[in-house]
Amino acid sequence: MPELPEVESVRRYLECIVIGKKIDCVQVYCPKIIQNCAVESFTQKLQGQVFQAIRRRGKYLIFECSDYILLSHLRMEGKYLFHPRREIKKHEHVVFQMADMDLIYQDTRKFGTMHLFSKTVDVLTIPPLSLMGPEPFAEELTASYLYDALKNKKQAIKASLLEQKIICGLGNIYVDEVLFDAKIHPGQAGNTLSLDNLQELISSIQKIIARAIELGGTTIRSFTVHHDIHGRFQNELQIHSQDKCPVCKQQVKRMRIAGRTTYYCAVCQSVDKK
Ligand SMILES: [Zn+2]
Repeated sequence: MPELPEVESVRRYLECIVIGKKIDCVQVYCPKIIQNCAVESFTQKLQGQVFQAIRRRGKYLIFECSDYILLSHLRMEGKYLFHPRREIKKHEHVVFQMADMDLIYQDTRKFGTMHLFSKTVDVLTIPPLSLMGPEPFAEELTASYLYDALKNKKQAIKASLLEQKIICGLGNIYVDEVLFDAKIHPGQAGNTLSLDNLQELISSIQKIIARAIELGGTTIRSFTVHHDIHGRFQNELQIHSQDKCPVCKQQVKRMRIAGRTTYYCAVCQSVDKK
């Protein structure tokens, strides 16, 4: 599943290609992807729009057009492809036709979503974006912010970090990496972490996400930014999908948290009490 660094790589890639281009016509072959308006309205409104900017909030791509904002979430396996006009293939669900190329949204699982908003509203202040916690590099992400946000959370810290409401952008891979780096057990209750633990956690989040963005994200299983572009962070994974802990050389353990396979080192990530 693409997480913040992968979505950021997709954003940078799309930005180089679509800015300034006009959408001549949109075709939707899987209506359930379009979330907040009828397919007809979606295609009509986007016709003639020019892509002006592409931003990101958490794992959402924000396509800023002349009069509308298109939000796109890739979920498990969504991808954007560019191709000169051709017949659509299996798993290609939305096509944005432009003069020289088509921007094609492909998604084998069809879990991805698109929302369309008028530019007259501030999309950051309405759902789904208003429901998200701060970005990893936001000023408001401080140890005391996390301490307050987690003070009633008895669930595993990993589950809280995956929810996107306390902090956005982290998914299964990076949460495992961040907790290993901060020496926090993924199953430890969020409300038992000290301010020092949380300061460590923020430092680890910022260090790992910055490095992953620098390397173009992680190419793992289904995710590639584009068939020609592969992230390189998978070569730096310390704990996720690894056999031995790189620090103490013990066997890496696995457990399930929030339905996700979680990798951790039982020696290096012991449960601390505040
Ligand atoms: Zn270890």
